[in-house]
Amino acid sequence: MATYKDNSKKRAKAPAKAIKKNREKAKPPFRIIPLGGMKEIGKNCTLIECNNEILMIDCGFAFPEYEMFGIDIVIPDFTYIKKNMEKIKGLIITHGHEDHIGGIPYLLQEVSVPIYASPLAMGLIEHKLEENYLTCEQHVVKAGDRFRIGGFTVEAIQTNHSIADSLAYSVKFAGGHVFHTGDFKIDYSPLDGNVIDLNRFSQLGDQGVDVLLCDSTNVLRKGYTPSEAVVRRSIDEIFDNTERRIIIATFASNVHRIKYFIEASMKHHRRIAVSGRSMENVLALSKRLGYLDDIPESVFVDVSEAKNLADNKITIITTGSQGEPMSALTRMAYDNHKSVKLKKNDVVVFSSSPIPGNEKVISQIVNRLYEKEVSVVLASAMDVHVSGHASSEELKLIHTLIRPKYFVPAHGEYRHLVEHAKLAHSLGQPNEHIFLLGNGDALEVNGGSTHVERGYTSGEDVMVDGYGVGDVGSKVLNDRKKLSQSGLITVSVALDRATGSLMAEPILNTRGLIFEEEHMDLIREAISVIYNTIGKSTSAGALDEASLTRAIKSDMKTFIYNTTKKSPMIIPVILYV
Ligand SMILES: [Zn+2]
Ligand SMILES: [Zn+2]
Repeated sequence: MATYKDNSKKRAKAPAKAIKKNREKAKPPFRIIPLGGMKEIGKNCTLIECNNEILMIDCGFAFPEYEMFGIDIVIPDFTYIKKNMEKIKGLIITHGHEDHIGGIPYLLQEVSVPIYASPLAMGLIEHKLEENYLTCEQHVVKAGDRFRIGGFTVEAIQTNHSIADSLAYSVKFAGGHVFHTGDFKIDYSPLDGNVIDLNRFSQLGDQGVDVLLCDSTNVLRKGYTPSEAVVRRSIDEIFDNTERRIIIATFASNVHRIKYFIEASMKHHRRIAVSGRSMENVLALSKRLGYLDDIPESVFVDVSEAKNLADNKITIITTGSQGEPMSALTRMAYDNHKSVKLKKNDVVVFSSSPIPGNEKVISQIVNRLYEKEVSVVLASAMDVHVSGHASSEELKLIHTLIRPKYFVPAHGEYRHLVEHAKLAHSLGQPNEHIFLLGNGDALEVNGGSTHVERGYTSGEDVMVDGYGVGDVGSKVLNDRKKLSQSGLITVSVALDRATGSLMAEPILNTRGLIFEEEHMDLIREAISVIYNTIGKSTSAGALDEASLTRAIKSDMKTFIYNTTKKSPMIIPVILYV
């Protein structure tokens, strides 16, 4: 508590106070514009704009929310980027998780921008680009690197997270100094030995940081997030105590953890089979980048050969820790896996925790595994997973080291942002120096003054459905919602073009509303309603397509609602013959 205040006083007491003030006045204004990642966990994307130059930090996607029927992913709205194309100098990536890199193929379809990322993140990005036949200028950066992008001087700083090569960035430019933590935790014993560079955090804090953007994901958790070393102990315990087949599901990108599963297997003379496309891809990439240099190729065995090995001689590492429908673990659970048939007493370890929203499908898989009498090990019962995000005490340390003038909580749902603001305030940050931004808002810093412009640009969700980007709007989503809730009725009517009389009995089809064969009475009544409607329309002389469509929709809606209390979508099809 005292630390924060003492340090800020020290800075305020600097002898060159007056000169500094003048210099601040002369600084050009700059803007921080989040396009994603605010009031949500997903599709992180932030812009720093100064002197007609823009630096982008991260470009992720989000998974669709509950009522986004049929939507594959959600990406940031790139309208501002397209409008200011010539100003965009570069995109720096904090790490290779999808909520930070998943939007890149969509971005590159709109603008061309040089990308700066750590080796693993760049490897993952390259794979995406190849899949989409895209190319771009690429710069691999490592912790400690300092480089210029236009007028921005960027420094990459080592952090810890649930993927290798995670970076924080210090960005200095004519307007000021912005520090972005990326996703991080403080791990004093990470599996790769690269401890977050708190020393550099502190030095940069001493140099004066105007704006800190900081991960808020775990602000609601008290204390400290445990080290990855905890996972190592639990995994050892599992391997020490079973002679059964071990199947571990985890995130493909957690390279260091996967390496540890391999090492533990080797210690117990087990060979390793890998299942799932993303797991195979990331493993191949990790080998290429040298993360698995000390693992002999001979320990790996093709998953199709796993069944030929004794139970205590094989470990299978698989995708599917989130219950993804097509993943290897899901296929194993439903007996659809080509090579792996689950057996009674197999040990299935979920080295993961459910991403919010996935709990239900994961518990379906877990129940399925229980039915197969498999031993299931979940992170809730044993420390086979730890979070990659800083808890509140770690966040306090970062605020104390950086001591920013202004603070923008980032990477969190609204409650996380609010609690992170409170945490900063409790450490002495004045409330008027803390800014809760939404996507599309802009924080403008101009010398010593600040201004927030709400809705500076569009920060809307852009929905991706198959090949369509942004063509599914709220109207289409409403239709899908209606279809999912009450189904659909089509009414087909053939009329004589000259006389307007019916040429045949109207045909009524329903989908997702009722089982037609059991409700023939209802269908017959509905058809008589259509006869009435056409009769009324004929006497009113309103037999044109638009009027008749409106009349059928309205009468059918009333009839169906009165008889079933349901409101299906109604589609009249009128044919003039
Ligand atoms: Zn992350
Ligand atoms: Zn993230």
